[in-house]
Amino acid sequence: MSAKRVAVIGAGPSGLAQLRAFQSAAAKGAEIPEIVCFEKQANWGGLWNYTWRTGLDQYGEPVHGSMYRYLWSNGPKEGLEFADYSFEEHFGRQIASYPPRAVLFDYIEGRVNKAGVRKWIRFETAVRLVTWDAERRKFTVTVQDLPKDHCYSEEFDHVIVASGHFSTPNVPEFPGFSGFNGRILHAHDFRDAREFVGKDVLLIGTSYSAEDIGSQCWKYGAKSITNSYRTAPMGFKWPDNWEEKPLLQKVDGNTATFKDGSTKKIDAIILCTGYKHHFPFLPDDLRLKTANRLATADLYKGVAYVHNPALFYIGMQDQWFTFNMFDAQAWWARDVILGRIQVPEDKKVLLADVEDRVAREDAGEDDHDAIEYQGSYVKELIAETDYPSFDVDGANEAFFEWKKHKKQGIMEFRNHAYKSVITGTMAPLHHTPWKDALDDSMESYLRVTVAAAE
Ligand SMILES: Cc1cc2nc3c(=O)[nH]c(=O)nc-3n(C[C@H](O)[C@H](O)[C@H](O)COP(=O)(O)OP(=O)(O)OC[C@H]3O[C@@H](n4cnc5c(N)ncnc54)[C@H](O)[C@@H]3O)c2cc1C
Repeated sequence: MSAKRVAVIGAGPSGLAQLRAFQSAAAKGAEIPEIVCFEKQANWGGLWNYTWRTGLDQYGEPVHGSMYRYLWSNGPKEGLEFADYSFEEHFGRQIASYPPRAVLFDYIEGRVNKAGVRKWIRFETAVRLVTWDAERRKFTVTVQDLPKDHCYSEEFDHVIVASGHFSTPNVPEFPGFSGFNGRILHAHDFRDAREFVGKDVLLIGTSYSAEDIGSQCWKYGAKSITNSYRTAPMGFKWPDNWEEKPLLQKVDGNTATFKDGSTKKIDAIILCTGYKHHFPFLPDDLRLKTANRLATADLYKGVAYVHNPALFYIGMQDQWFTFNMFDAQAWWARDVILGRIQVPEDKKVLLADVEDRVAREDAGEDDHDAIEYQGSYVKELIAETDYPSFDVDGANEAFFEWKKHKKQGIMEFRNHAYKSVITGTMAPLHHTPWKDALDDSMESYLRVTVAAAE
């Protein structure tokens, strides 16, 4: 082990990718720094580590979890498969393409259990403050051991922020909210669609959350779904009891009024209005300030902080690619820290890289371009490290198919199967159509499968 120390903040898929990246270098004989990962939850997996809690946890910490019961992957697993740990390796066979949360959690955990990196993680330890001493070129990381209620500080040569950005809700206000006779919640606090059985539910927004939480409520028996859009409707072929309306203007008692003057009686409002990049533990000189987009502000190669390249951020982009993109970034950050990749010293070069990425993203016209853009970003990074090369174009294809299948049937797209770009095997079809599969347990999902035609 080298004398260097590296702090990783968060043990979700991004932080775990970083731990696996270092472990993989060590396994090939490289001398690696001491790695300390701080995770405020009691277990790893980030958002995939389900919690029933909302608001504050038992220590008074904001609850990180935004996932809910019955959540199934919203994109095909063939787009996110780890190149160094296939689904077949983990489950001993190929599985269907849209696994529920528990199945993906198991898969995420399988790789890091195999790598043996749990020992590097200090659980129930929240990072409170990171500061940089420019003269000594050291970070001081101050953390709180939550069960012991004890704060302490340690020094590091590098800090890698992998704390996620889908946990701090963006919560707008609409006229009449304080007098609304029903529940108003943000998607972050949504946990169980059965709460809305028989109810007329209004969703604000057109994000994945709006689409998926609406679909969950519909599947588990809401009376009707209305979703309100600011610029354009989502435009899928919705079931009969689902309609899209222009932006909510006000609520009066239980009546919602929309921009086109129409009204609707509603029982509950779910704000699917997005999340904020929020780093309360970072001072101004280290804190990333970016919109949720594919080309973030201020990150060279989407990873190294341009104002201080000893600091890295993993997974801060808006995401088509997820786990394998976090891997690509983690392997790249690792190689900078190991001295295998040089970050240019001239800040102008770093800023020009960011500018170029932003311009290229802006030049794209639609989701197809966005998928290709992020796919080519993943290719760019993996070409610079020893992360196992995989068929990124094939993963793009899975995403294109997925988009097409959503257009064909928004409540049926999860019944399709795709081919793994890691093992080349076709996924089987799931035994039950998604809308009828009410049990989201791993046991149920893995029970029986039906072969899909290639
Ligand atoms: C509702 C929802 C559904 C999603 N569905 C999918 C899907 O189907 N497929 C998909 O690929 N992606 C999905 N995602 C995207 C998701 O962002 C990624 O899959 C993935 O979880 C991101 O990993 P991450 O490690 O970057 O962040 P996170 O998973 O958010 O993990 C961050 C970790 O950092 C820890 N942390 C935060 N602050 C601190 C602190 N101060 N100190 C210590 N630890 C801290 C947290 O406790 C957490 O464990 C979904 C996201 C949401 C919100």
